[in-house]
Amino acid sequence: MRWPVRDPDVVAVFEPPPEPWLAGHRGVDLAAAPGDPLHAPADGVIAFNGTVAGKSVVTIGHGALTSTFEPARSGFAVGARVRRGEAFAEVGGGSDHCARGCVHWGLRRGRDRYLDPQSRASPTALALKPVATQPVTAS
Ligand SMILES: [Zn+2]
Repeated sequence: MRWPVRDPDVVAVFEPPPEPWLAGHRGVDLAAAPGDPLHAPADGVIAFNGTVAGKSVVTIGHGALTSTFEPARSGFAVGARVRRGEAFAEVGGGSDHCARGCVHWGLRRGRDRYLDPQSRASPTALALKPVATQPVTAS
């Protein structure tokens, strides 16, 4: 995946809750200003574009994964296809924790399994991705 903003600056990292029902930070916050363009991290389809409890949210479905952006506003209709890197929205609207100077990017698999977007977007993390499922044994 690619970063949704140019020159990404992570201002709050992913902190998964110890249990799914507990509080945590289910994504990363990237420094951003209202009006900044958001670029699709991967090919997908606009899955939601609107307001949830006063928060302006746009989500993109990428097959099994879903990206969520807040605050974000998009001129795309639900169901519209977006290409990796395409500007699909801009930073703006209401948010309960990114009110000033950031945009929240959440990534989940299925309904409630949250992943760290930074590990998917960071080139260094990609280099550390395991290539085998078998445990490494010292010799
Ligand atoms: Zn956040």
